[in-house]
Amino acid sequence: MKIGFIGLGNMGGPMAANLIKAGHEVVGFDTADVCVDGLAMAASAAEAATNSEVVITMLPNGAILRSVADQIIPAMGNGSTLIDCSTVDVESARAVDDQTTAAGLLFVDAPVSGGVGGASAGTLTFMAGGSDAAFAVAEPLFDIMGQKAVHCGAAGAGQAAKICNNMILGVTMIATCEAFALADKLGLDRSKMFDVVSTSSGYSWTMNAYCPAPGVGPKSPADNDYQPGFASELMLKDLGLSQQAAASADADTPMGQLALELYQRFVEDEDGLGKDFSAMLPRFQHRGRK
Ligand code: NAD
Repeated sequence: MKIGFIGLGNMGGPMAANLIKAGHEVVGFDTADVCVDGLAMAASAAEAATNSEVVITMLPNGAILRSVADQIIPAMGNGSTLIDCSTVDVESARAVDDQTTAAGLLFVDAPVSGGVGGASAGTLTFMAGGSDAAFAVAEPLFDIMGQKAVHCGAAGAGQAAKICNNMILGVTMIATCEAFALADKLGLDRSKMFDVVSTSSGYSWTMNAYCPAPGVGPKSPADNDYQPGFASELMLKDLGLSQQAAASADADTPMGQLALELYQRFVEDEDGLGKDFSAMLPRFQHRGRK
């Protein structure tokens, strides 16, 4: 299949590489000077989209997605498919869906979970929104780049699933970190705390699979000086999207809002920038930090 791939950063680069390895003919474009093994580069986003049956975008945010969509949609052939794998706001996904539909194209919003490791290993999870016809085009490509794809509903449903998942993730990471900080103060050994909670009703992915306490549980970024992993600023971005969605949908998400405020402080005023999102644990060891 002829595929245009736009946005070849930490995630897009390895995803494009996996499509090439599977035998697809991929033409890439990025505004930065990037290099992916075996990838032919176009001079513009529109050029990468011209003559492609599918165009995949993996971009930083909704505003950039909308501007790239304006450039590529006129260049895409009738009946071709745009798959956006970026994490963006639900409104941007729906706006690009409207634009593609008006141009006679198919659209899938398909944000991912699994991080850079999952992108390289081809083990991402895709959460997809769009018509059955659009999902049918995208699914074989999801099978190459990932291990699971869930068709969540109409356009925007993939982004909705992603931000709800990551709101739970941010909140539970904070809860896990503060519980470890409290356990420390109560003189409870961290490995005993892990043994109990990981097999009791407080268990969660953040405790069992991605424990924020160094030397406890399976290997995680905590064991590597909190190098990401999933960087705090990306968690902050996703919590911001969840609160933007909650405001526009009139949903009450107080824990999500508090998680947003804590990650904002951690990234902007403390030492969280560039660190894994589990690096919050030490900040809870002193009462009274606002
Ligand atoms: P990144 O910053 O490494 O890559 C984004 C790429 O887009 C960059 O190479 C940038 O030069 C390029 N770009 C920016 N504007 C462009 C334009 N107008 N035209 C063409 N290219 C342009 O980011 P990333 O980590 O690869 O993340 C990409 C998306 O995936 C984001 O939406 C992010 O939230 C999401 N995501 C990231 C992770 C992760 O662990 N990194 C996990 C899940 C989802």
